[in-house]
Amino acid sequence: MNNSNPIYFVGAGPGDPELLTLKGRRLLDKADVIVYAGSLVNPALLNGLAASLHNSAGLNLDETTALLADGQRDGHKVVRLHTGDPAIYGAIKEQMLRLDELNIPYNVVPGVTSATASAAALKAELTLPEISQTVIITRQAGRTPVPEKESLQLLASHQATMMIFLSVGMIDTVVSELMAGGYPAGTPIAVVEKASWPEERTVSGTLATIGAQIKEAGITKTAMIIVGEVLANQLKSESKLYDKKFSHEYRQGS
Ligand code: SAH
Repeated sequence: MNNSNPIYFVGAGPGDPELLTLKGRRLLDKADVIVYAGSLVNPALLNGLAASLHNSAGLNLDETTALLADGQRDGHKVVRLHTGDPAIYGAIKEQMLRLDELNIPYNVVPGVTSATASAAALKAELTLPEISQTVIITRQAGRTPVPEKESLQLLASHQATMMIFLSVGMIDTVVSELMAGGYPAGTPIAVVEKASWPEERTVSGTLATIGAQIKEAGITKTAMIIVGEVLANQLKSESKLYDKKFSHEYRQGS
């Protein structure tokens, strides 16, 4: 493989232009060609750039691949800009396999995923001692199927913290699957719409109430569903890390 002038897949972050890495910013500033996921990338990230800009929202994989490949072969600096972190529901693998076939090099620069931006909006910690030490990133099956072994109902049996992408439009199905899987009706659940954007909204409730709340708020897309006891705003115990009696590599307990 020729390793010079790689294409960069860059995570744009959840919306706030300041939630882009310095590396991502530098690559955008120097790019000649940017292909961006126009449905969710904040256009403010692209203001004033010299690069030629291509919104991928209306393009198919052949067309986006051609833009990337032609740009790179012409010696241009090419950035493929994806919302949040490219590794999560980013549809980057299919693009990378096409570039492999064409023997075109690429690198990936991570971004702030909307999952953690949503946790920040809620001021939540997703992993609390004795409550949940596991975070499940998933989605409700829709037009894109989900493997049977990963149905929401089965995943719900863990009663871990769950971050459910791409599913707010099916909130009633999500709630019934979660309850069928074992979460009690009183389990806290929150929806964050457009986390980190100026128009960000959060709605918090329980599995029993959230369906009606979401309909009332009129939230239909670009929202994260977070469910689990970690949202209850209480602790079972404090962490060992800062426990004054607990010794570890950096601190002697008393
Ligand atoms: N790669 C992206 C996810 C792309 S899939 C990431 O890491 O965030 C698109 C889904 O992500 C949306 O349906 C929604 O569930 C979620 N999403 C993207 N941006 C969001 C935001 N600013 N606030 C809340 N959810 C968001």
